[in-house]
Amino acid sequence: QAQLDLAAKDEHAVTNDGHTMEIVANIGNLEDSKKSMTLGAEGVGLLRSEFLFLDRNTAPSEDEQFTTYNGIVQSQQGQPVIIRTLDVGGDKPLDYMPMPTEENPFLGERGIRIGINRPSILKTQVRAILRAAQHNPKSLVRIMFPMISTIEELRAAKGVVHAEAKALNVTNFEVGIMVEVPSTAVMADLFAKEADFFSIGSNDLTQYTLAIDRGHPKLAAQVDGIHPSVLRLIELTCKGAHKYGKWVGVCGGIASDTQAVPLLIGLGVDELSVSVPSLPAIKAHVRELSLKDCQSLAQKALDLETASQVRALSSGR
Ligand code: PEP
Ligand code: MG
Repeated sequence: QAQLDLAAKDEHAVTNDGHTMEIVANIGNLEDSKKSMTLGAEGVGLLRSEFLFLDRNTAPSEDEQFTTYNGIVQSQQGQPVIIRTLDVGGDKPLDYMPMPTEENPFLGERGIRIGINRPSILKTQVRAILRAAQHNPKSLVRIMFPMISTIEELRAAKGVVHAEAKALNVTNFEVGIMVEVPSTAVMADLFAKEADFFSIGSNDLTQYTLAIDRGHPKLAAQVDGIHPSVLRLIELTCKGAHKYGKWVGVCGGIASDTQAVPLLIGLGVDELSVSVPSLPAIKAHVRELSLKDCQSLAQKALDLETASQVRALSSGR
């Protein structure tokens, strides 16, 4: 099986009834990007840019960030690259960015809220990303904001991108959002008018939908992204996006989960961003499925009551 997977790793992931899924990689650095190219990635679906900011005493400069993003974009040889802006706060503190102690850090200043409240950090990062686009005119560089929960946040963050794009005269970029807060999934049709694409962060979306901390020692096992409540939000997201001709990816852990993949395809997800080692296996799995069967499976799953019922259905138990 493993050998078969590798033989077809560079072919597209097309279901047996002709529906193509885009299969891209979740990466943290240049090394992951290079590795993903050897395993059949069709681009980068999520660069977690946090790695550049962690384990150091000062924030990386614009030039340093440019060098890193540029290397990653180049390593993808013309394939699209989604760079997520800094997603810290909550459980990911930074020593050189002192934050007041919060009673509920997961509901506090994290993700894009930090970028909006500290515009110089966002502006520096956005300029570095746009310069990487400018340096690779044949590549499409996609900027993605984490933890968007309101339209106002999206507009504020987009304002920074468009001001810098104008200043730098760059056009080969798009702006999308993570869908990882229920408000954004519920209002996806309205967000779709103002974002070029969506990528569902099912890890956080599940934690915020079920109101269970994804790292909780006792409760985290219940944070299952194929819970019917989450599937309903994914369906809403896909419908809202497609109404305005936008596409939807999934970059949370369920994209690499073979029991979840048929459900995601059936709900209308267009792109799966998966861990680098699982690229060939996810492609092989998609090829064994039919869109029609995935759609009827997903419709059944939406009416179930529990995550374990969905898992039983998907595995044919
Ligand atoms: C997610 O929340 O699903 C996601 C992909 O982002 P992270 O895991 O980095 O929070
Ligand atoms: Mg997240």
